[in-house]
Amino acid sequence: MSRPISIRDLEATLAIKDAGSWMHDLATQLYPICRSITGNGVRETLRRVDARVALSTIEVPSGTEVLDWTVPREWNVRDAYIKNANGEKLVDFQRSNLHLVSYSTPFKGRLSFEELRPHLFTIPDWPDWIPYRTSYYAENWGFCLSHNDLKRFAEDETYEVAVDTSLCDGSLTYGEVTVPGGTSDEVLVSCHLCHPSLCNDNLSGIALATLLAAYLKHRQTRLSYRFLFIPGTIGSVTWLHKNRDRLANIKYGLVITGVGDAGKLTYKRSRRGKTEIDRAVEHVLHHRATPSQVVDFSPYGYDERQYCSPGFNLPVGRISRTPHGEYPQYHTSADNLDFISAEALRGSLEAVLQVTEVLEKDCRYLNQAPFGEPQLGRRGLYGAVGGNATQPANQMALLWVLNLSDGEHSLLDIAERSGLSFPVVRDAAQALQEKGLLAEVSLGRGAGP
Ligand code: ZN
Repeated sequence: MSRPISIRDLEATLAIKDAGSWMHDLATQLYPICRSITGNGVRETLRRVDARVALSTIEVPSGTEVLDWTVPREWNVRDAYIKNANGEKLVDFQRSNLHLVSYSTPFKGRLSFEELRPHLFTIPDWPDWIPYRTSYYAENWGFCLSHNDLKRFAEDETYEVAVDTSLCDGSLTYGEVTVPGGTSDEVLVSCHLCHPSLCNDNLSGIALATLLAAYLKHRQTRLSYRFLFIPGTIGSVTWLHKNRDRLANIKYGLVITGVGDAGKLTYKRSRRGKTEIDRAVEHVLHHRATPSQVVDFSPYGYDERQYCSPGFNLPVGRISRTPHGEYPQYHTSADNLDFISAEALRGSLEAVLQVTEVLEKDCRYLNQAPFGEPQLGRRGLYGAVGGNATQPANQMALLWVLNLSDGEHSLLDIAERSGLSFPVVRDAAQALQEKGLLAEVSLGRGAGP
């Protein structure tokens, strides 16, 4: 067996001091870019990711029919502002890209406050924060501002409004990285990159997926990995449409998003609920020292909605920390670089690596001495596991693995049934195999039920 996939191995392999800081630094670099579901901000983001993990950038022309959807026109921004009668910019896109409603159509003109007001969005409950709003599929324009800034507007004044945007035929852009493994069985890792200056919601997932891809490219893996950096909804719909012939290879999948806040790790099960990926993540979270939660599938959320639509029904779950919409900073300017931490990002990555290790190493063995218990002491196995003779878990693991290695039970089955963690069971199997007491019967278990 190769060395375990772990955060320490990642840091050593990539020669980085702290994976958490690495991810936070990448988020910091991507933060100022104005992203949307299409446009140059997506391309610029993909260029930064490409510099760290070579990816393919795919352009899909506007108007392309994808499943029940159509790839929209491409949106780009040059500038946007609202000036008062003194020429003072009360709202300025150059100060924060959240100020402009995403997909705002071009507009230039002078408006009374009454005419302007329906185009202004604030959060009265959080008067310092700028909300994040989009208008992808209804042609309109608008500005988002803090509620405090709204108080600077006067009802009897007129305002100069400039929305210098373009909405034209172009393309939808997404990025894809593949890491070929020993088998064609694939792990799909998907994150969205369609939000402007928002950190937990989009940048945390991009940063984690980028570092994971960079690491796995340096490892020999049993499974193949496919990383998608896509605009939410329309991106996964487009990818699914273009890759229908590949979907049978996807045995496991994770949507990664919202992994940088201080909340506990949350796993949302796939629609099928009991597939290998569901069991692997639940097992890993259960054995971590920090609190976590598992929630059932629901047809709302991020791109798991598309992967788990009934026609595809892929084994794809979602990993995040506090679920979207359950923290007040969600979709506001307060989802900034201070809201995510290197420590939280590192913990999330560590959990994902532990899941990867389960997927990579899970297999079935056959006990080569199944009649009675083989004498372990004679073979130096009592006390040989993990170099720590006094851990009863290690000794129990030897007995569990021997007992359940009948060719039917995988290491994850044994870990679940014994209550022991996967690494303890894996190490026991390795020790038994080295002594000739176990023989591997299959490379993997496939997709499960
Ligand atoms: Zn969002």
